[in-house]
This record gives sequence, structure tokens and C-alpha cells, in this order.
Amino acid sequence: MRPRALLVDLDDTLLDGAHTALAIDGTCAALASSFALEKTQLREAYSAVWTVLRPEVELPCWLGQMNGEAALRETWRRALRRAGLAEERAAEFAVERYQAIARSAYRLFPDVPGLFATTARMQIPVVLVTNGPSDVQRDKLRALGLGSAFDAVAISGEIGSAKPDPALFVAALHRIGADHREVWHVGDGLTNDVGGARAAGLVAVWLNRTGRPTPVDRCPDVEVTSLAQLSALLVGSAAAS
Ligand SMILES: [Mg+2]
Repeated sequence: MRPRALLVDLDDTLLDGAHTALAIDGTCAALASSFALEKTQLREAYSAVWTVLRPEVELPCWLGQMNGEAALRETWRRALRRAGLAEERAAEFAVERYQAIARSAYRLFPDVPGLFATTARMQIPVVLVTNGPSDVQRDKLRALGLGSAFDAVAISGEIGSAKPDPALFVAALHRIGADHREVWHVGDGLTNDVGGARAAGLVAVWLNRTGRPTPVDRCPDVEVTSLAQLSALLVGSAAAS
């Protein structure tokens, strides 16, 4: 059946996640040359700090209780301290470099324009449903030129509930005046996207770009390996309706 609307995840679904590693590496290199630090040591310090800090800051960021820049600053502050430099101006420098490198490295996957062309042709409303802090997610949309690509945008940090909580999906649907019936959600996350969409009564489309085994305990309604395959399914759904 042709969907009445398509909800889509952002990170690792539309947006290639490669920018994160580029931004961390580039920031470490810039810090190393400007503050006489050892790049490898700094990179290791960043990883160690993020492993500890992530469980503390991720959910508050997703729920709008902390902005992304504050979390980023605290991560760099601690990483620098661990690498032997407790200077606030170095942390500020790191935040600025990281944001600039990430912004210039944001890339949509090559199959995204084709999906948007299909939904536009078929007049299927598209709603972004993303977990993240408002400042970072809005910056991604601006940098990617996606400001007006969606019929509505639901960012967890703005709404105060995050996937897999069905409340975020309900809020997204509310923004286009739809209910859950015959609505598809596509995303790469098994817990947040597949689990959340199913809990909200949507058709859960799992985007499995990397050939991961399909888990038996969190089975999607539909599995695709690319958004091109999803576009073909949408076209086929109209023929079947
Ligand atoms: Mg994702």
C-alpha cells in the first residue's frame, strides 16, 4: 500500500557519518600544531573521554536539556586536560575548529536526491525525525541545504522526547496532521528507528547499508540496503494500491 507519509532519520540514513572522524582528527591536528601537543596522544585522550562522557551527555542533549556545543566543549576540555593542557582558550579553539571541519564535511549519501525526487513526484509528505540537540541538527540541515526539503521537522532536542519513545513519532505526525496509519519510517537504527517506529504503530523500514545480520528480536517490517531500493518500493507500492 502506498504510504500516506514517509518519516526519515537523519544521521547515517540521509547524512553520511564520516564527518565525525574527520572533525576529530582535523581538530587534533590543529591543536597539535597550535599548542605543542602530540596528536596521537590527544586523539587517544579524546576517545577515552568520550567513552565516559557519552552516556552522561547524550540523552540530555537528545532531550533538549543540554545543547550540543556545551557537550562538545566539555569533551574537548576534558580531553585537553587529560593530554596535559588545562587552558580554556584551547578548548574554545577546539570547539571552533571541530564545528568548522564537521560543517564542511557534511555529505548526503548519493541515493538521497533520488528518494526526494520520488517522494516529490508521488506527492508523499516527508518528515524528518531525528535524535539530537537542536543546535547541531539545525546546523546540519542548514549546511546541507535541507532547510526546506521536508514537510516538517521533528528534532528530539526541540520536542523533549527521543526515539525510540513513540512520543517523538506522534509529534512528527501531528506536524503534518496525520496519524500513524499507513505511514512508513526509515532509519538505520534497530532500537531507535525500527523499535521506535513499531512501538508507534508505523511501518518500520530498516536501512541496512552495511549488510548487518537481521536480528530476530527486533525484526523490521521491511529491510532495504539503500534508499534507491526504498524509492523502488515506493513506486511499486503505488502500482499495488
Ligand atoms: Mg541514524
